[in-house]
Amino acid sequence: MKFAIFGDIHANLEALEAVLQDAADHDCTHFVCIGDIVGYNANPHECLELVRALDCPVVKGNHDEEASLDTPLVGLNPLAESAMRWTRDHLTDDDKAYLRDLKMVRQVRDFTVVHATLDTPSGWGYVTNKFDAMASFSYQYTPVCFFGHTHTPVAYIKASSVEVDRSAVIEVEPGKKYFINVGSVGQPRDGDPRASYCIFDTGAQRAVNRRIDYDRETAQRKIIDSDLPDLLAERLDVGK
Ligand code: ZN
Repeated sequence: MKFAIFGDIHANLEALEAVLQDAADHDCTHFVCIGDIVGYNANPHECLELVRALDCPVVKGNHDEEASLDTPLVGLNPLAESAMRWTRDHLTDDDKAYLRDLKMVRQVRDFTVVHATLDTPSGWGYVTNKFDAMASFSYQYTPVCFFGHTHTPVAYIKASSVEVDRSAVIEVEPGKKYFINVGSVGQPRDGDPRASYCIFDTGAQRAVNRRIDYDRETAQRKIIDSDLPDLLAERLDVGK
């Protein structure tokens, strides 16, 4: 059984459509979303509709949470803040209710999904090194957990110690634990502007990171034609 595991879509409809097409082309029959459907780019409502139509497990991201609330915006950088204000104005009450009700952590079959960390899922910390990963491993009760939030695909593998593995194909071996970042569909930040997601073959116990070209110009044009900051369009070219 093949799962497409994807997240950090950030309202980039063109990237999301390209990823779902690629997943279908690769015989994915199941889908799991690791959160941050909205924020930054120009199609929050449309991306939500598409994810909801998949009727798949979804966990909450920090942008999903912020967008679903009416509370003052604190702790965001100026770019994220003006994008969040715009995003709130472009979601329906039903969209916000859906986002508000999302769970922080879910187990799907024999693996777990979370947006940011397993040790404090609602603290929205960033796992950027093996020490951060070790804190999550203490709360990981399945061999494999998929996450996002940093927009950078990478795998942390725990055997006697924790290793960092940036290869595209990860073979899951018995007795080890895997904390795998699937990268970002709609705003990659590892210098590669292509959309990123993961295919997990549960039979073969193999996780494959895929990078997908998409119609970036259209996504950028929509940002420039909206009241969103133009910088959000420019960063899609550099993948930062
Ligand atoms: Zn994100």
